[in-house]
Amino acid sequence: MREFTTPQALQTFRRSLTGSIGFVPTMGALHNGHISLIKESVAHNDHTIVSIFVNPTQFLEGEDLDKYPRKIEADLKICEMAGVEAVFMPTTDAVYNPDEMRFLAPRVKGYILEGYHRPGHFDGMLQIVLKLLNLVRPTRAYFGKKDAQQLYLIQKMVHDLYLDTEIVPCEIVREEDGLALSSRNIYLSDSDRIRALTLSKALKHATHLIISGERKSEAIIQEMKQVLNVDKLDYIAIVDRNFDRLEEVIVKESIILIAAWVGGTRLIDNIWV
Ligand code: AMP
Repeated sequence: MREFTTPQALQTFRRSLTGSIGFVPTMGALHNGHISLIKESVAHNDHTIVSIFVNPTQFLEGEDLDKYPRKIEADLKICEMAGVEAVFMPTTDAVYNPDEMRFLAPRVKGYILEGYHRPGHFDGMLQIVLKLLNLVRPTRAYFGKKDAQQLYLIQKMVHDLYLDTEIVPCEIVREEDGLALSSRNIYLSDSDRIRALTLSKALKHATHLIISGERKSEAIIQEMKQVLNVDKLDYIAIVDRNFDRLEEVIVKESIILIAAWVGGTRLIDNIWV
């Protein structure tokens, strides 16, 4: 497996490749969620490239940039065993310069929900994903539905800027008890973890309500709040696949999203119904 730390070295390698290229961007501390994306890519492409980069521009002042888990040795082993051909792990200075062009998230869809609670987060996320897509020029790039709004905005960027990459959405990987895998789960104490489970329980409860005929978003959201045991709820929202709010659930076209704090940890989860 090749390891690159500069954009130039990655570009030279990329130019030597023929055939289809799958790309999986990550911030490292890889878990089974990331591995499922990598496996999809390895199964469907001639070459797979993974990036590992904790992107500072998508963290807000006061967020967990400094303590975000970094496990580069273990990550490289995981990539090698999964059949990854190259890993790109740049320093911040290698991919950013102080006075550079900026690409900004859309004013509406980039500033609701996650974008409302983390203003500017999606600007930084899209800036780095655009750079990475331009460097790797992948045939397909793999993103988890776990970060549903991120996935939507990346699909929109690819559409709006005519990028020549297929974005492949991947299912959310969960622990056996339902907790969605996240690199941030390691912050949770045992008692926090039990309360963190109430996010997926609330989403499951919403599904049961919908199966039994409930369609009204407000009624579903109120019931979900009864299930949640968190320190602070940022939002529960029911939207369509374009992130427009729905008064009523439309089956097979809706996403139910939660963001909440448990202890000092901010968690997100969602279900596509
Ligand atoms: P991150 O390292 O958190 O930036 O995530 C990198 C990619 O992995 C993103 O496309 C995430 O949506 C995806 N991902 C993270 N957690 C999960 C999960 N539990 N299941 C599926 N994909 C995930």
